Amino acid sequence: MPRSKERKQSCMHYTNLYITSSAFVAGEPEMALFGKKEMEMKVPDDPFVTMMKTVRALPREKVAERMGELAKMCTCPQCPTYNECAKNAMEGLFCAHGTSFHCITEPKSCICPGCPVTKQAGLKHQAFCVMGSEMAQRYGAMIK
Ligand code: SF4
Ligand code: SF4
Repeated sequence: MPRSKERKQSCMHYTNLYITSSAFVAGEPEMALFGKKEMEMKVPDDPFVTMMKTVRALPREKVAERMGELAKMCTCPQCPTYNECAKNAMEGLFCAHGTSFHCITEPKSCICPGCPVTKQAGLKHQAFCVMGSEMAQRYGAMIK
């Protein structure tokens, strides 16, 4: 692979990881979307909320480590929806990172429910590559 392409892919991967890690640690990107009313809503505890609180309490380098562990468990590359573009851009772990950056626009089917991350993180949603992260989909459902 040409060095410039390799560097671009690597940058995209780490940019994704940095944005997600920042969100996990500080919560500002998502919280900025919340108005006063939403901020006052009590979020019921469930396995996902508990995991998010645990991750947010970790030092930044540990968050990156944890994200790396989850990324290795992600089964997206075996999904019919996953494509060559997503593979080349090293996309995955959409449940945490959010939608595919520019590769996946339509889900064919989704194997998220059978992924070990779904069980471990207590995910309730799926098709994250087109519908957004678990956090985004939960927030969307809250304000419907
Ligand atoms: S739940 Fe879906 S998006 Fe999340 S890691 Fe598993 S396969 Fe990937
Ligand atoms: S998020 Fe679901 S639909 Fe999208 S690639 Fe992963 S497993 Fe397939």
